[in-house]
Amino acid sequence: MNRVRLLVFNAALGALDYRVPEGMAVEPGSVVVAPLGPRQIVGIAWEEERLPAESVPDARLRPLAEVLPVPPLRAELRRLIEWTADYYCAPLSAVARMVISSGGALRGPATMTEYRLSGGMPERMTSQRERAMERLEGEQATIRELAEIAGVSEGVLRGLVNQGAMEAVTVDCDRPYPRARAGHATVDLNPEQAAVAARLVEAVNEGVFAPFLLDGVTGSGKTETYFEAVAAALDADRQVLVLLPEIALTQAFLRRFEDRFGAPPVVWHSSLKSTERRRAWRAIASGEAQVVVGARSALFLPYARLGLIVVDEAHEVSFKQDDGVRYNARDVAVMRAHFERLPVVLASATPALESLQMAESGIYERLELPSRFGAAELPAIDTVDLTEDPPERGRWLASRLARELAERLDKGEQSLLFLNRRGYAPLTLCRNCGFRFECPNCTAWLVEHRFTRRLACHHCGHETAPPATCPECGEPDCLVACGPGVERIADEVAEILPGARVAVATSDTLNSPERAAEFVAQVEERAIDVIVGTQLVTKGFHFPELTLVGVVDADLGLEGGDLRAAERTYQQVAQVAGRAGRGEKPGQVLIQTRHPEAPVIAALAAGDRDAFYAAETEARRHAGAPPFGRWAAIIVSSEDEAEAKEAARAIGGTRPDLADIAIYGPAPAPLSLLRGRYRYRLLINARRSARLQETIRSWLDALAFPRGVRVSIDIDPYSFV
Ligand code: ADP
Ligand code: ZN
Repeated sequence: MNRVRLLVFNAALGALDYRVPEGMAVEPGSVVVAPLGPRQIVGIAWEEERLPAESVPDARLRPLAEVLPVPPLRAELRRLIEWTADYYCAPLSAVARMVISSGGALRGPATMTEYRLSGGMPERMTSQRERAMERLEGEQATIRELAEIAGVSEGVLRGLVNQGAMEAVTVDCDRPYPRARAGHATVDLNPEQAAVAARLVEAVNEGVFAPFLLDGVTGSGKTETYFEAVAAALDADRQVLVLLPEIALTQAFLRRFEDRFGAPPVVWHSSLKSTERRRAWRAIASGEAQVVVGARSALFLPYARLGLIVVDEAHEVSFKQDDGVRYNARDVAVMRAHFERLPVVLASATPALESLQMAESGIYERLELPSRFGAAELPAIDTVDLTEDPPERGRWLASRLARELAERLDKGEQSLLFLNRRGYAPLTLCRNCGFRFECPNCTAWLVEHRFTRRLACHHCGHETAPPATCPECGEPDCLVACGPGVERIADEVAEILPGARVAVATSDTLNSPERAAEFVAQVEERAIDVIVGTQLVTKGFHFPELTLVGVVDADLGLEGGDLRAAERTYQQVAQVAGRAGRGEKPGQVLIQTRHPEAPVIAALAAGDRDAFYAAETEARRHAGAPPFGRWAAIIVSSEDEAEAKEAARAIGGTRPDLADIAIYGPAPAPLSLLRGRYRYRLLINARRSARLQETIRSWLDALAFPRGVRVSIDIDPYSFV
């Protein structure tokens, strides 16, 4: 009797056993369809001894329905799934779902119908039809996509099809991608870069587990250098995964890749259309996809023969996922490289302390690029003490920064003002009664967006139009904006420099690849003098004429209860500073602060990275914080306030009493209401030697909660709200 154990995508079902019908070939990793009650479910065949299940006698087993036409998940990937579930205290099924992330991909070859202009004319021309035909020149896509491109209804396009002006084309969903070529356009590296590249190429060719910290200042050529390792993998016919923070996945990077390798990489991110997902997934699983550039979710795809992983901007917090499986893609990337026995490169100008520590202790091999490429120098950094040079009331730029902006404008050079706050003002209140506009679903103020005339919650998306009268006291015209967002800074620049062309660059204004590309083109053509932007502009961009960077409020990130606040401020300011002086003209950075003496600000001003890291390392050691100790969080939430509180109390009341694990809380979370759920948190600080995950699991497994309560575990948390 041939039986098989399945991992299915529903945590509540656990593992299930089935009978393998005569003639069906199933091996561990096979993706199969099985009957469950009246339904059919998808599962992955797993080694029985690694997946406990209730034992079912042979006679009661139902037969599998079919094996899906995709390659079985390799053992290395199955081990990674197990490791991830175990380390992050997440259900195996939830991790496996990140691997099988395209339903369509599981079905065999398929075709779809796309449309394009046929060259014929419609019998009757209308202005809509004319517009569509103009805009669809050279395009081929589904009707829905074409309607979007042309800005007309699908009905208009169907009319054109009926009248023969457009024709249907059958395309293979899995048509191959253009091939990248290692030697398409090679670059002459300088000696420092060449040494680093040679080491990476060697590791790719050896094909052994080799973690690298590629530590190089902004503009030193880290990308250029790891491209050599990508080329080596291409030559060896191995696949490459480059992980980027979602916001760095820009046209600029893709264009650069194409310039170097002659074809764009396969892109993977959360907003791919389902047909694109399917095509990418299948090409990755078959080994056809050569280089995948993706956001963190690309890490769990079923690569057929991976040869190299690069995590660029590896310090970025966006590699940490904060819902579902709360994993850190940077750390899991190293584990994947370990299981698959291949090199992994963590590249950054401002590495996380955890990564530096791994390099220091010899676990990661450190490769350094200490200077900028070519003639470019690192910018000069100065602080502006806002207590000594305060802006006028209602303004946010100190006179020195305003003066420097004016000077750049005179010289025809560009400036960037950085403030990590979207919108016009973070708080709106009533001058008459003091009423503050708060989100009904979250513990958060509504942020005014003047471009769109909305008050918006940045946590849940709740939006409302600003009312003419105060909802509390009824007074007309009494609302005042408090504090600045980027839109307000842009207004201020327009006031003090009436001739300047100012652009706001945030996820609100650059919300599509097209708009981002347009923005880049405008800056490159020098049609923009001053950019006012959020962290969106701190990375990836290379504007040679940009010579001044102003940090509007460096103290912003240091407020609040974030245990990594100093490190994050350091990284953010150092990254945005890295946008200045990338061409031949030297750069200047001005940091506005009320605390120039704070260690992180002083280190930035002195350009003394080592001093900052040394001080921060000591502080972490003292606090038993990562990398010297570990943190975990337990977050309890419910739509019912009393229920959430009661569940948190029950968890707190049964806390284990251990010498090497300290448990704080429960306490209401700083975001005590989020998307309509009341939230409590416990923070756990453990010694490195402690059995952290095991302790948490056995503690929580012993408790039962009402249906409406959600308890999530966050191992190595980055968010403390
Ligand atoms: P990083 O990734 O460290 O920020 P990049 O790889 O983006 O640095 O390099 C910064 C700029 O210098 C880019 O415009 C890049 O094309 C250029 N550059 C770096 N190294 C070289 C080289 N060896 N030859 C030509 N251009 C280079
Ligand atoms: Zn909200």
